[in-house]
Amino acid sequence: MSEQKQRVFSRIDQNAASIVERSRKLFDIPELGYREFETGRFIRACLDGWGVAYAPASYTGLIVTLGRGAPVVAVVADMDGLPKKAGEGRIHSCGHSLQTSAALALIEALKDEPLSGTVKVIFTPAEEMIDYAYRKELMDRGLVKYPSGKQDMIAHGVFDDVDCVLSCHASGEPGCRFDLGSILKGFVILRAVYTGLGAHAGAAPFAGKNALHAALLAQTGVAFLKDRFDPEDGVNVQPVISEAAGTVNIVPDHAVIETYVRARTEKALFRAADLVENCLKKCGEALDIETEITRRPGFLPLSQSREINALVKENMLLLCGEDEIAEGIVSGASGDVGDLGTLLPTVQFGFTGVSGRFHGDDFAVTDEGTACLCPPKILAGTVLDLFERPVSGRAAFAEKKAAYLKSWLGD
Ligand SMILES: [Zn+2]
Ligand SMILES: [Zn+2]
Repeated sequence: MSEQKQRVFSRIDQNAASIVERSRKLFDIPELGYREFETGRFIRACLDGWGVAYAPASYTGLIVTLGRGAPVVAVVADMDGLPKKAGEGRIHSCGHSLQTSAALALIEALKDEPLSGTVKVIFTPAEEMIDYAYRKELMDRGLVKYPSGKQDMIAHGVFDDVDCVLSCHASGEPGCRFDLGSILKGFVILRAVYTGLGAHAGAAPFAGKNALHAALLAQTGVAFLKDRFDPEDGVNVQPVISEAAGTVNIVPDHAVIETYVRARTEKALFRAADLVENCLKKCGEALDIETEITRRPGFLPLSQSREINALVKENMLLLCGEDEIAEGIVSGASGDVGDLGTLLPTVQFGFTGVSGRFHGDDFAVTDEGTACLCPPKILAGTVLDLFERPVSGRAAFAEKKAAYLKSWLGD
């Protein structure tokens, strides 16, 4: 281990008590995407206390730049929480508070170091794709351009000078400390609105057009379609009828199906989304029901940089044994870090130390040594290694970004 890395790691150990305390405080202020105002105040108070400058980005996000010159390594940290399942309130049930905490610990550990490159620590809001009506309102008011924080930051040029991207996420993988090189699926959001004609269900059902029939036929059609998907592609489609009009004596004139289409590669994702979209449309048309489909981008599948993960692994091995690292897990989950991965060499490693269900009310941090203290060390160690052995994906970035904005986000 280099002298500098040793110094940085021992600084994180010296700061352990305050890192854990900050992490607990952040866990206790869960806020939904683009509403991370208190979280932002907390981050700014820490940075002000350390005399570290920052810039705002994407409404509630923040950017801290340390060091200078090439290479430029971005470390992204999610900030947002989720609604509780039961009752009112919110909870950090995806563990994003641990990412914010790790990013702060990283800044604290590196702020007085001589750095032979630039590290851009980016607090990214609104990772969970929920609460769309609110985000649409922010977009309509011109406060953000896209519903997810990283998508918005990509569009606003935050990554234009970046060579590669590091991130981490809490992991529920049993029997290990860390996971490496996991594949996150991508998803596309489809919504079908079926509009029929109401009529007396007893006296004159023939005068109506039953929109619910179209939704049910489409559900059946999508279920049959599942035979067409190669299990290797990991396609997942679970449509729900989210709205249906009518009472027992009126022919339903309105029904809505909503679904995510998920898959582990871009090619499989777009093929599956096209097939499902076509099925939702044609099933309505087959019954002479007016059918309107909207299709929105979710996140792209994440394929990780092997080169950077080799460095991440070296740093994990400073903290644990080989048998405590799980590699290449295919997760059913998705993240907007997947979008970044299509533009720049990107990694997202996983750390355990949490219990309960992800996105569930029983999610908790149970091993703070692993969940709070290891991630900043792995991030810091990998950043320092990347300064010595740079990995850059800058070639053709501008072209890739233009194509991404146009064909994926529909700019
Ligand atoms: Zn989540
Ligand atoms: Zn998450």
